Amino acid sequence: MSPRMTPHHRWLLVLMLTVAASGVAAQPAHTLDPEAVRCYQLRHDDPDAAARLAEQRLAEADLLPPDALVFQACRAISLAIMGDADGARAGVAAVETLLAAHPMPPGFELRALSNAGATLQLAGDVTGALEAYERALRAAAREDAWEAQVSTLVNMALLHGDEFAAYDQAEALFAQAAAINDAHGDRKASLSYNRAINSLRRERLADARVQFQQALDGARASGEEVIARRAEAELVAMSGAQDARAALQRLLDRQRSSGDVSGAARSALLQGRLALEAGDHAGALADAQRAVEMLPESVFGAVRRESLELVAAAEIARGDWQSAYRTSNQVHDEQLQRLRSMQLGNMARVQATLVDEHNLEELLLARQQGAISELQASHQRRQRNLAVAALGLLLLLAVGFVAYQRRITRRLRNLSAQDSLTRLLNRHAAGKRLEAMVPTRVDAGDARLAVFLIDIDHFKAINDRHGHDAGDMALLAVANALTTACGPDGVVARWGGEEFLVGMGGLDASAAGRMAERLRQAIADMRVGGGVGSMTVSIGFAAAPVFPPPGGSVAGVASGHWPDAVVLADRALYAAKRGGRDTWVGLWGRAGTSRPIDEALDDPAAAISSGDLMLSSGRPGLSSVADRRARGNGAPPATT
Ligand code: GH3
Ligand code: MG
Ligand code: MG
Repeated sequence: MSPRMTPHHRWLLVLMLTVAASGVAAQPAHTLDPEAVRCYQLRHDDPDAAARLAEQRLAEADLLPPDALVFQACRAISLAIMGDADGARAGVAAVETLLAAHPMPPGFELRALSNAGATLQLAGDVTGALEAYERALRAAAREDAWEAQVSTLVNMALLHGDEFAAYDQAEALFAQAAAINDAHGDRKASLSYNRAINSLRRERLADARVQFQQALDGARASGEEVIARRAEAELVAMSGAQDARAALQRLLDRQRSSGDVSGAARSALLQGRLALEAGDHAGALADAQRAVEMLPESVFGAVRRESLELVAAAEIARGDWQSAYRTSNQVHDEQLQRLRSMQLGNMARVQATLVDEHNLEELLLARQQGAISELQASHQRRQRNLAVAALGLLLLLAVGFVAYQRRITRRLRNLSAQDSLTRLLNRHAAGKRLEAMVPTRVDAGDARLAVFLIDIDHFKAINDRHGHDAGDMALLAVANALTTACGPDGVVARWGGEEFLVGMGGLDASAAGRMAERLRQAIADMRVGGGVGSMTVSIGFAAAPVFPPPGGSVAGVASGHWPDAVVLADRALYAAKRGGRDTWVGLWGRAGTSRPIDEALDDPAAAISSGDLMLSSGRPGLSSVADRRARGNGAPPATT
């Protein structure tokens, strides 16, 4: 195993070994060129040399098609490992051309497709990889090659887990692989191991333990040391034993010296988690950083993400908020980048598919017009069947593609909707949620969407006194407290620097007042670390729609939608600040009033006097404050 092995590399290698050892369906009649074997051996340690070797051989005129296929495939995967995604994709296309043009020995198509899948996955073309795996699966079923079916299903499961975080789908694929495996022979250790890792991600610890044990037993029986050590490491980490970290270190040393770097990184990650649990924050940080350094960024796998997340957790535990913030941003950016490139790849694929579809239509049209009428009737029939089958395949791919595209888009949207410090919704995303929460009807009960703006009191002083890191920690604490206080039905967002927004549907004026008090109290009860201690917030709230039209009819924008409610809530917040802070003020619009919304925003005091805006407060005597502020005279608060 090479020092740069990632889960994908590992799987490719396992697959190659499986295929090489078992000969898949039948022994290939073709003996593999020894230099092709050398190319595959070289590809991890020196992919550049592997690609050059393949190119040299491909330049020869008398190369047999099966050899050309193998060298093309080796070159493509070497380029993928080097990070040349375009070159890798072009290589896969060359392999496909060869496959289509020449009859190949049994098992070759299958191997070529599996390779193509692994190559495309490395090159970030996840949809292409899935397509190749699906075709490999069909070829394996056709050739009755059960081991190849199992390997391919496992590859597909890994891809679902690593790239889409779709762990339940991955489990379904693992289960299918296990069923095929068990019908034919002993359960493969690699299948058990990867399924166990997936069980961990699904938080099925008992399943994971059983599967790791199966992996360990199977790997020992078959002499697969890499998997045996990895499974052992997981079991050690799960055991809760006193000396677990030392045992992991011994395993890690052996993994490293045997070249299983991905396994070694995972062992370091496991050590770090144990250290964090034991309260050894510095040790946890060192272990997690060790794990990250072993894993290249170019192939951003789940182990790397989990290691970076552990780095952030250890930094938080040490109170180093600034670093935690940076690390957390790094995870976020790496994920975003990977998803973006996947989305771009998919766009290109859709275009290609559309072009193919167009060509197919032209072909069918040409046939209808009798352009190929000289074809034999039987031949024509066969062609038609082929065309129908091709259309069916296109349709299947399109359906599958839409599902994946949707999943990617959803993950992208989630990532870009988050504030990176607090992981709350950002302003933009919150606006969309609020938009959907504004009721279209307001009935006699007067329940509406209540919008709360929450601003930390004297936050600048916290920064000045305890440092920016402590300030960040306080922001996180406020975010968590608001989320807890607000429950699953509310929307909590970071609205600005030290300002938060909470949206909660179905409240009337008095319920909104109680909610505001609950939010205020939740923060006042909090104790923050880093020397900060307790803190307070001021809150302003308003209802959306601000002025629901009479009779509970559909509310138009004219009656004041959520952005107007935010403006009013801001006025109310200001009143709370001027009233001495650590309190709340509400400005609740009266249903059925004919007062135009703009007028109420310009001159809330008049609206309050006429009863169109109802003012409420957590502290008696604030009404005059709001009144003065609303008039915009900036006079100091009247404390009655
Ligand atoms: P008030 O009670 O009137 O709201 O006083 P304040 O000090 O909270 O208000 P001001 O608006 O003067 O200061 C807000 C401070 O919040 C200034 C800014 O440096 C700080 N801040 C904004 N975003 C962040 C952040 O992400 N992290 C940290 N640590 N501070 C931030
Ligand atoms: Mg502020
Ligand atoms: Mg403030």
